[in-house]
Amino acid sequence: MASVIKSGIVRDVLSESLSESHVNVLERLNEPKYDDDVANELKVKATVVRTILNDLHQSSLVEYQRTKNKKTGWYTYLWVRREDKIVEYVQQYLKTQLIDLNTRLDDETRNVTFQCGCMRVPYGTAMESNFVCPSCSKPFVECDNSEVIDEIVSEVSRLNSLLEQT
Ligand SMILES: [Zn+2]
Repeated sequence: MASVIKSGIVRDVLSESLSESHVNVLERLNEPKYDDDVANELKVKATVVRTILNDLHQSSLVEYQRTKNKKTGWYTYLWVRREDKIVEYVQQYLKTQLIDLNTRLDDETRNVTFQCGCMRVPYGTAMESNFVCPSCSKPFVECDNSEVIDEIVSEVSRLNSLLEQT
């Protein structure tokens, strides 16, 4: 079965939001597998794989079938990738990031900040001290946050374009 992870964008976003190790584990689950088998294939400790699988489970990207070994009484977990949830997860992640960025953009464009030699303060604080810092005695001058704004704007357009392509 071809996975949506094969799409470079989906893979990149998963790696960005979770980690490369999480993506590696997801990729190994092209069929239901035990955590030990995934660990062997990736040549990492089973405990590491289990931690990652639990993360993925919390994000609803995998599910498991649990069976009890009658002899040992221990449980074994057969892990299954939830192919149907991956694109949904990626889109949700991008949307959440976009909301955060837009809030920051709003703050940066609306709130003028001032800077002296030692700190950044909002307009009100600078005005109260007649635009001279009580700590370092330097004048408060308006911060140029256009670079920060540019960065946020370009990140917003990057995420929007990723969202369109998923
Ligand atoms: Zn100062």
